[in-house]
Amino acid sequence: MTATSCTFCDIAAGKAPASIVYTDDGVLAFMDIQPVNPGHLLVVPQIHATHLADLDEEIGGRLFQVGMKLAQAVRRSSVRCEGVDLFLADGEAAGQEVFHVHLHVIPRFRGDGFGFRFPPHYQRLPERRSLDEVAAGVRRALER
Ligand SMILES: [Zn+2]
Repeated sequence: MTATSCTFCDIAAGKAPASIVYTDDGVLAFMDIQPVNPGHLLVVPQIHATHLADLDEEIGGRLFQVGMKLAQAVRRSSVRCEGVDLFLADGEAAGQEVFHVHLHVIPRFRGDGFGFRFPPHYQRLPERRSLDEVAAGVRRALER
């Protein structure tokens, strides 16, 4: 997706409407137009990045810092908020629907009906040997 066909780039450029909550040189935050709960915000990099792998690490850090700040602000605001989910879907299989990196800040409360759905095997804990093998594979990938 190019910058010209990206809704979040359009919002960052002031070419598409959004209810902006925060902006700085690196990131921008605005209300999600399809909120899970009232107060649901998105924090996005000002410069287009389709996936996390395309995102400058410093901007990624900034994304999380601003997400933390906004989580506090949402808790202090008038919206119903007993907890907060910070959620970032990287890739279509992970649930990413807009292909410009975005961190969700979602106010949560008991009985709001939102949540993760776990697969049946989730209840069966893997053996340590299996966890160690996967860990070794990830460590090798880190060194690349
Ligand atoms: Zn974009």
